[in-house]
Amino acid sequence: MYENIKNTSMLKSLFEQKNLMHSYLFYSADKELNNMVAMCFAKSILCEQGECCCVCDACRQFDAKSHPDLTILDQESIKVENINNIISKLSTLPISATKKVFVILNAENMNEIAQNKLLKSLEEPNDSTVFIMTTSKTDKLLKTVLSRVNKIYLQKLSLTDKELVASDLLSQGIDIRGYLEKDFSITDMMNFVRNADFLDTIEYIKYIFSNLNTTSDIPCIVSKMNLKNKEIFFSTMQDIILSTLKSDYAKYDKDLIDIVKAHFNEKVLSKIVLMLDDAYKKQMSNVNFTYILDNLLFNILKEKFYAAH
Ligand SMILES: [Zn+2]
Repeated sequence: MYENIKNTSMLKSLFEQKNLMHSYLFYSADKELNNMVAMCFAKSILCEQGECCCVCDACRQFDAKSHPDLTILDQESIKVENINNIISKLSTLPISATKKVFVILNAENMNEIAQNKLLKSLEEPNDSTVFIMTTSKTDKLLKTVLSRVNKIYLQKLSLTDKELVASDLLSQGIDIRGYLEKDFSITDMMNFVRNADFLDTIEYIKYIFSNLNTTSDIPCIVSKMNLKNKEIFFSTMQDIILSTLKSDYAKYDKDLIDIVKAHFNEKVLSKIVLMLDDAYKKQMSNVNFTYILDNLLFNILKEKFYAAH
């Protein structure tokens, strides 16, 4: 998670520390980065292993946004009613974790009344709660609020920083230079190198999106699958679709994103994202890969057909 951030060691010790502070504010110009780090931090607090293990019950509940000790505010306009709702939860003890975690994403969306209301809770910390906020616009937050929270500035690795890491890795025989220009984290890049199948996977996904038109295409597409590492297939496909939905060209080539866009509308793509979650789960429980793929392609076509009629 924090591998593509400059102040990694600070974050690492923050994530590992046992004595949590009462409130944190992650800030930088990069909204997505702030929110990603904040969510990961919140998850690590609630995780039964204390580390975002992603497999314990708490992590699963977190991913499903159903953890009983988690409250997330993530909206365009945060009003005093929303803060009152948080305050009403402050007096009760956590249900399954040791802390109750309140996450306020893009805290600049709080109006002044809401901020003032929140300030009272920040001024009178409660041992069993942690507030985690993010902002890309610190000037939109009241000085009084800013002075009450632990501010953590996040800085993404620059290309030069990545080049330094790359030359270091090269001396260890790992060559990530081919990925540097794109927006992958160092860990992602190392995984791609270790897993030479990554580019084949992308090529194959591109082939699927270009050639999946009728159900009679399915057997042919399935028979052309000869990837060595199938573990990354569904998550890569999902990542490509999410990048397409955001028109984000940072990771994948423009022509791949354009192909996906040309063949499927947004509504269908959002449905496919969910199907891929399901496919990945099946894969993890050892269902035959070809069977999952075959099913997935059929369901994608079905969605496409419904969307068109
Ligand atoms: Zn966990």
